[in-house]
Amino acid sequence: MTTLLVSQPNFADHQTPQGHPERADRIRAVNEALAGPDFARLIRRDAPYGDVMLAELVHDAHYLARLRDARPAEGIGQIDADTYISDGSLDVVATGLGGALMALDAVVMGEASNAFCAIRPPGHHAEIATPMGFCLINTVAVLAREAQRKYGADRVAIVDFDVHHGNGTQDIFKDDASVFYASSHQWPLYPGTGHPSEAGVGNIVNTALPAHSGGEAMRAAYTEIILPALDKFAPDLILISAGFDAHHRDPLAQLEWTDSDFGWVTGKLMEVAGRRCGNRIVSLLEGGYDLRGLAGGVRQHVATLLNG
Ligand SMILES: [Zn+2]
Repeated sequence: MTTLLVSQPNFADHQTPQGHPERADRIRAVNEALAGPDFARLIRRDAPYGDVMLAELVHDAHYLARLRDARPAEGIGQIDADTYISDGSLDVVATGLGGALMALDAVVMGEASNAFCAIRPPGHHAEIATPMGFCLINTVAVLAREAQRKYGADRVAIVDFDVHHGNGTQDIFKDDASVFYASSHQWPLYPGTGHPSEAGVGNIVNTALPAHSGGEAMRAAYTEIILPALDKFAPDLILISAGFDAHHRDPLAQLEWTDSDFGWVTGKLMEVAGRRCGNRIVSLLEGGYDLRGLAGGVRQHVATLLNG
């Protein structure tokens, strides 16, 4: 078993205003968390530029042009109440996507059994026509489509344990039975979607967890609902929207998961990947806004990917 860690060299070039939770220090904290001897066996690679036009596999035709128009010549432009774009943001988006595509290649070609991409900004709130919630393009959705287009994957699963519902990913795939999307998220909370009644064409599974419900409620949701549905879907590949904002230290939510909860859920997804798709998992960083909570969760997640 080998795990690929993809780093993003230009992560700091996407700028957000002072005090914004989605900031460059997040990636510094993740890189530091994975620097120790416990992680010496990781295969480490820098993300190359990816073809941002691939965003049009999931977003509408004018999406990238609108993002370019929203980008200021200097400083930071505002897209909505909490989503920003700076001069360098599209280059950062391009390396985030390039890193994810490199991880997909490595995992599909058997060079690594799984991969984690330490990239920003997150993507799962970006809908077909709308960037939102810190997200500029929906990278995990592009990756799912590319796995189908480039490698002929028939069935791709996306599991999203970020504390927020991935409304964008659901929006993109809600009518497409070839992509399974399961989310565990705090309810009620931003963005307000993700009620369990939202089931797409039977390919969407939403588990809504109340504030302060902790790791026990999360484990029950996975054991009773998400893992059986994922197993039944029998994916060719599992993608993870790995957000660490369900951590008890996180300032944006109150699910109160511990570091080890992130290791547990990772291990359970690996069990399904072992049974169904030759261990193939590609995990992309989404949220996580307390630097210590983020580092602690990522350490458990990647140690589990690496050691089983
Ligand atoms: Zn989140």
